Amino acid sequence: MVFKNHKHERSLYVTLGIVIVLTVTIIMITHSAYMYKDTKNSIKEQMQESSKETLISLQKNVTNLMKSYSINEYDKLIFNAMEKRDNFAIIVEDYNMGKIVGEKSFFSGKIRDKEWKIIDYDVKESEHNQQLKECYYSDKYDIVTDGGDVLGTIAVYISNRSMNAQLNRVILGSVINLILISLLLIISLFITIRHFILKPLSDIVVSIRNSDDDGIPIDLIPEDGAKEIFLLSNTVNNMISSIRSSRIALKEQKNALHYQANYDALTGLANRFLFNDRLEQAIVKAKHSDKKVALLFIDLDHFKEINDSLGHDIGDKVLRVIAQRLGKIVHKRDALARLGGDEFTVVIEDLKHIQDISLLANKIIELLSKAITIDDNKLYISSSIGISLYPDDGLSAQNLIKYADAAMYKAKDEGRNNFQYYSAEMTELAFERVIMDAGLREALKNEEFVVYYQPQINGENDALTGMEALVRWKHPSIGLVPPSKFIPLAEETGIIIPLDQYVMKSAMKQMTKWYNQGLQPGVVALNLSMKQLNQKDFITILKTMLLETKCKAEWVELEVTESQIMANPEEAIKTLQEISAMGVKLAIDDFGTGYSSLSYLKRLPIDKLKIDQSFIRDLPDDEEDAAIAKAVIALAKSLNMRVIAEGVETQEQKEFLVKNGCKNIQGYLYAKPMPTADMELFLSKKPSSIAH
Ligand code: C2E
Ligand code: MG
Ligand code: MG
Repeated sequence: MVFKNHKHERSLYVTLGIVIVLTVTIIMITHSAYMYKDTKNSIKEQMQESSKETLISLQKNVTNLMKSYSINEYDKLIFNAMEKRDNFAIIVEDYNMGKIVGEKSFFSGKIRDKEWKIIDYDVKESEHNQQLKECYYSDKYDIVTDGGDVLGTIAVYISNRSMNAQLNRVILGSVINLILISLLLIISLFITIRHFILKPLSDIVVSIRNSDDDGIPIDLIPEDGAKEIFLLSNTVNNMISSIRSSRIALKEQKNALHYQANYDALTGLANRFLFNDRLEQAIVKAKHSDKKVALLFIDLDHFKEINDSLGHDIGDKVLRVIAQRLGKIVHKRDALARLGGDEFTVVIEDLKHIQDISLLANKIIELLSKAITIDDNKLYISSSIGISLYPDDGLSAQNLIKYADAAMYKAKDEGRNNFQYYSAEMTELAFERVIMDAGLREALKNEEFVVYYQPQINGENDALTGMEALVRWKHPSIGLVPPSKFIPLAEETGIIIPLDQYVMKSAMKQMTKWYNQGLQPGVVALNLSMKQLNQKDFITILKTMLLETKCKAEWVELEVTESQIMANPEEAIKTLQEISAMGVKLAIDDFGTGYSSLSYLKRLPIDKLKIDQSFIRDLPDDEEDAAIAKAVIALAKSLNMRVIAEGVETQEQKEFLVKNGCKNIQGYLYAKPMPTADMELFLSKKPSSIAH
């Protein structure tokens, strides 16, 4: 919230200051003017009084002195009188002396000069007479003898200066007093106003300014200060409180409206409106990140019949149960929506494998088809799902919905209780995979996997050095399924973890058994997925397995393909080191196909490189393959690793390899992978030796 600062706004402090100073000044001036006048009058009266007194006393004393012509004596008297009082001049007019000097009268007396010193009056000095004329007050008495003769006159003059000096002293004193009183008044007024009005007011302003985005103060304002201020802040606080509570009510209303507009009241899932919005957002995101989006359109089969036969109440309950079940499978709640009726949708973003969608659709179909018990009614509902993919099928939300809907009808046509992709090939692929995935899980449970062993031979002396354990699926109806058909899917779905553990355990048990029988099977190479090695507890599992099967660590070698190790070598390093520390050997399988980094090769605790069979096939004629095979052998040697060639089918291939330094051979030339019993027979015939 922004408060505008108007230019003409003036702080209350300044305004109050000006008003107080002006008021005090006017009072002071009025008071001073009155005082001035009053004081002047009273001084005037005082002076007149005192000049009268001077005259009276001088009149008496001067009379006799005049008679005896003692001018000097009354001159002294005048001087004393002048010194005592602040008179400007005292002039004596002496008729007797005048006669003597031949004038009408003789003037003598005292007058003040510019420095206010007393000097003799000279009647001929025009300046003196001028000064006397300018005196604001004078009084003149006759000097009369007892006999009634008039000897002369005596006059007293008072000038402005003496009066002004007195006046100034009085005025100055009173002005100082006034200023002090005014200052005191201003300060006390200011303190009072500040404490009771201005401070509480500015606290209120600060508190009000501390507001949220809507301009409503965050805290209530302080309620102190004068009674009027208290009433003000109390009223404002009441206003704030009522705005707050109405805002909460408004927000609740807004939320409720938002909920009604975006969510389905029955199931609490997003409605068609919100779903459209989310799908569009998902498409925009996928477009930027170059990812796929899948839209699942779920429609319950024969839902209308439930509504018609059992009533809408039951129908509603069924829909709620369905929504709950969907919520259990689709963990991201935002992805779920109910478009109305018995139609639900799921939007899957960040799609990595299309495979995941098929598995999810399958799970949904399975879960929704489980019995629903409502009010003692056990209901079975199946569902049909249509799936469309962005960007494969369509680029706009509208098209994706249209195509998913069309695919859903296709699922209905296919007999319901199934899912269909909009594109036919996708559906086919998906079914194959879903069936396979379910099949693999079943096979694991039913122990349909068997381990075959392929001998590894020292090409120089044909002695057995070990063997590789290779899994096969003994399908009850199809027969023996090779790993290439199911390992990739097992990797994708994670079944590879229990599957590999099963193979490991079987092979270890078998090794112990063979050693116990006095056979020399050498070292068994086990193929492991990186997913297995990355299991947090893999080391514990491996140790436990060795203990349980009584298989020695040195009888075991783990093979990981080059591409899997090099996909994330940093992550692999720690586990591989722990494995190596246990005494279990490590080999890189299919070497030459996975773009190894030499620096990692040096850092990883690898014992053996296994040259991929693609480089062996055309040996020794293909020059390129020959060069690669030789380079791998040289690399292994320089890194102090052993090397083995797999897929060796001919004598020429073997001879080329042995001649170039790779004496370890695995391939059909010696033997194909074989079941345990055959291997046992093989072992009992061949003498074994350990390869170096
Ligand atoms: P791999 O580890 O490179 O195994 C070697 C493959 O070459 C085996 O195929 C083997 O039968 C085949 N082979 C051996 N000598 C010759 C030969 O002279 N000529 C020809 N043409 N092929 C030969 P198989 O048994 O089909 O296994 C395929 C792949 O499946 C294996 O490649 C391995 O990567 C994977 N695999 C097998 N068993 C397991 C397992 O228990 N766990 C894991 N994670 N993967 C496994
Ligand atoms: Mg292998
Ligand atoms: Mg291989």
